[in-house]
Amino acid sequence: MSEAKTTVDMDTIASLCKRRGFIFQSSEIYGGVSGSWDYGPFGVELKRNIKNVWWRDNVQRRDDIIGLDAGILMHSRVWEASGHIEGFTDPLVDCKNCKKRFRADHVVDGRCPECGGELTEPRMFNLMLKTFLGPVEDEASLTYLRPETAQGMFVNFANVVDVSRKKLPFGIAQIGKAFRNEITPRNFTFRTREFEQMEIEYFVKPGTDEEWHERWVEERFEWYIQYGMRREYLRLRQHEGEELAHYAKATYDIEYLFPFGWAELEGISNRTDFDLRQHTLHSGREFTCFDEDTEEHIVPYIIEPSGGVDRAALAFLADAYHEEKVRKRKRVVLRFHPDLAPIKVAVFPLLRNRPELVALAKEIASDLRPHMMTMYDDTASIGRLYRRQDEIGTPFCITVDVETLEDNAVTIRDRDSMEQMRVPVPEVKDTLLEKLGRG
Ligand code: ATP
Repeated sequence: MSEAKTTVDMDTIASLCKRRGFIFQSSEIYGGVSGSWDYGPFGVELKRNIKNVWWRDNVQRRDDIIGLDAGILMHSRVWEASGHIEGFTDPLVDCKNCKKRFRADHVVDGRCPECGGELTEPRMFNLMLKTFLGPVEDEASLTYLRPETAQGMFVNFANVVDVSRKKLPFGIAQIGKAFRNEITPRNFTFRTREFEQMEIEYFVKPGTDEEWHERWVEERFEWYIQYGMRREYLRLRQHEGEELAHYAKATYDIEYLFPFGWAELEGISNRTDFDLRQHTLHSGREFTCFDEDTEEHIVPYIIEPSGGVDRAALAFLADAYHEEKVRKRKRVVLRFHPDLAPIKVAVFPLLRNRPELVALAKEIASDLRPHMMTMYDDTASIGRLYRRQDEIGTPFCITVDVETLEDNAVTIRDRDSMEQMRVPVPEVKDTLLEKLGRG
């Protein structure tokens, strides 16, 4: 992580997330639990939207990638074969003075980051969370909560090839929870013990792997920009030496300039044929594809774009955050891409004590609901209602005013320009769909 800084700090983001209902601390009433977070009403929508656009772009819109949803619990031998039992470790150091624990590779000058005390020699700590299947807690029933979704796609490789008849190159995509017993969860939702991944395992002919690796790195980089991230807040970094995972020939990280500095958003690895060969070795099953050019069965190489949903959500939140002065007052606005905005439109009556306005606003909201996430609100003055929606990044607000009763038209306010336009009620839905890019 570098020392570069953004204009917004993490506390500002975290407090907005709590205040407005994006993210809450897990089990807060019991003092909270470290490394786990709960997504509130707007956070859940943001995350869903990120997963939906990822799925739409990578599965629905492509002919060469198909989806899978494998279990979190797998046979413990999966983790033996994958090398995770042996090698999925981080170096742990203890402070001899304050007794706190740290990841050795996150310590900058060899002293305790909290109190400056002396640290112990590093020892390896396995990051997998253990659990037991069934009523007896013994070696035979021991397994792990998956630390990555990838293995579900490798062990199902033959099933997917059989049913889909896909030829190389092709991919399997999956979104799901993963768990890692991180030594120091930190930076809000950046590093947690429970998180979601969006992963693609893209199977290619050996020899074409480097070219595909480059293509995926570029494609994934541009994807974040497509959904609104500032290009200058993104960069690529190649893993070197010991940082390279036990399965990888080469890895690039897409890094984002988070409020605490540059850090990984997504990793794109060339996993070679390591995983499929390991599973053949341990299960005795063959994992091959028929290559029509050479008329041989070959073990494909794998390119893996692996991103975190929570990290993407945090980066999109930080990137969308803007503060500006409007009529001498601070306006906080999340400039989300319309596809990611939790709520697409909010509808208000200008005067909540006028039953005709309330009824009409509710009717407009319910007409819009089948087409987009819509919110009705009359719990504050109009200025306040606008501010609330700005803070959750709602692209459009509709106000029903007294004139509406005469001209059957409403005001649509644009989040970013704050410009207002008058639109006849029967045209509201189509106008919004067009503005949202879904016309
Ligand atoms: P790090 O070096 O930061 O511990 P990693 O390189 O081990 O991470 P990968 O194994 O490449 O991470 O995981 C792929 C993606 O999954 C990451 O880019 C990140 O978005 C997400 N991810 C991994 N670990 C966590 C975590 N503890 N909390 C949230 N997201 C995570």
